[in-house]
Amino acid sequence: MEPLFTPEQLAEIKAYHLPHYIRGAVSPLISLGTFALIIGVLLQPFYRGAQGCAAWLSHRFARLRTAPVLRVVVSALDKMWGEPGWGTAILFALFVDLFIELLYSPANIYFGYVLEHRYGMSNYTPLRYALDTFKGLALEATASSMLVLGLYGLARRVKRWWLVLGVPSALLLLGASVLDPYRSQIYFQQAPLEQGPLRERITSLMARAEVPFQDIRVEKTSVESKRLQAYFAGMGPTRTIVLNDIMLRELTPEEIVAAVAHESGHVHESKWPGRIASSFALVAFLFAIDRLLRLAAARGWFGTTRFADIRTLPLLWLLAFLVFTLSAPVSAVFSREREREADRYALHLTQDPAAFRRMLVKAARVNKMDPEPPRWIVLKGYSHPPIGERLAAVPPTP
Ligand SMILES: [Zn+2]
Repeated sequence: MEPLFTPEQLAEIKAYHLPHYIRGAVSPLISLGTFALIIGVLLQPFYRGAQGCAAWLSHRFARLRTAPVLRVVVSALDKMWGEPGWGTAILFALFVDLFIELLYSPANIYFGYVLEHRYGMSNYTPLRYALDTFKGLALEATASSMLVLGLYGLARRVKRWWLVLGVPSALLLLGASVLDPYRSQIYFQQAPLEQGPLRERITSLMARAEVPFQDIRVEKTSVESKRLQAYFAGMGPTRTIVLNDIMLRELTPEEIVAAVAHESGHVHESKWPGRIASSFALVAFLFAIDRLLRLAAARGWFGTTRFADIRTLPLLWLLAFLVFTLSAPVSAVFSREREREADRYALHLTQDPAAFRRMLVKAARVNKMDPEPPRWIVLKGYSHPPIGERLAAVPPTP
């Protein structure tokens, strides 16, 4: 078999990935330093700033408190919070978010735009990049405000808030994937795959795999990136097979079928053990937050005077960061095993190892995958086995 890359291509791929590996090594330390800076130095200035801003806004827009619909919203928020001050809480959370975003923005622009363009991986125009970044920030700010109101609002009013919040959130988490087909449409245009041989082949493949689906759609990701991508979104009646427009351009129908077969392997995974485990983990995490909030209130950390004071928020972020960083290597082990299994499933379903191999080779070339990344980077949280390993597992074609 011809080598995956020429020596020149391999050198380019290694050069492209090196900054990512360096970031992988230093970013946990930088994150810890950022938390130390916020918790140790910036917390009180941010809090006083949020108080000042909230006071100014409520004075400036005092009329809105009596406006028809807003009046109801404002009084509901006052009631939920138990006292005025939810405005300060939201602004404080937004200040912390904004500070972290600004601090990381040089690195984010370098990795998301500069490096991608330097290695020909990106089709972003500066305008579209700015627009997508702005969309992401707006989503994050909304989620952050809702989290503050939901978590802190509830914690202030209900003794076992972690159960009251945890159980419905866990249920919501179980059902959230039903909405998956609609999420990526915030960023990309989609259209149904046109009628024709490719649609027929995928449809008959899915019939053999016994995977029902709603539609096959083509996502126009080429406005942003040059990478190949296919995924299944949703579940049951909302399941949608999504191929990006680059796949249709770069892969033959056999190779696209091989990629879809891999994705269909994921449908047959037993998802309930993982889902139930993550539901319990979520409730346990909220319980740990409850203990931390009680400790902070008892000791008067950060000048807090009561339980669930918003000034504990950066501490909760730190706790979440530690939990995610430490659990990533463990969940990645399971993820890589699921990927190996999906590869085996696809090979069994299509009985076409040659097309499967060509699909992996093209994916590796187009997406500039490192065939042999450093072992520690894989262990730290790679969701897929390295492409070299996946290729080696494909049986040779006679
Ligand atoms: Zn997969």
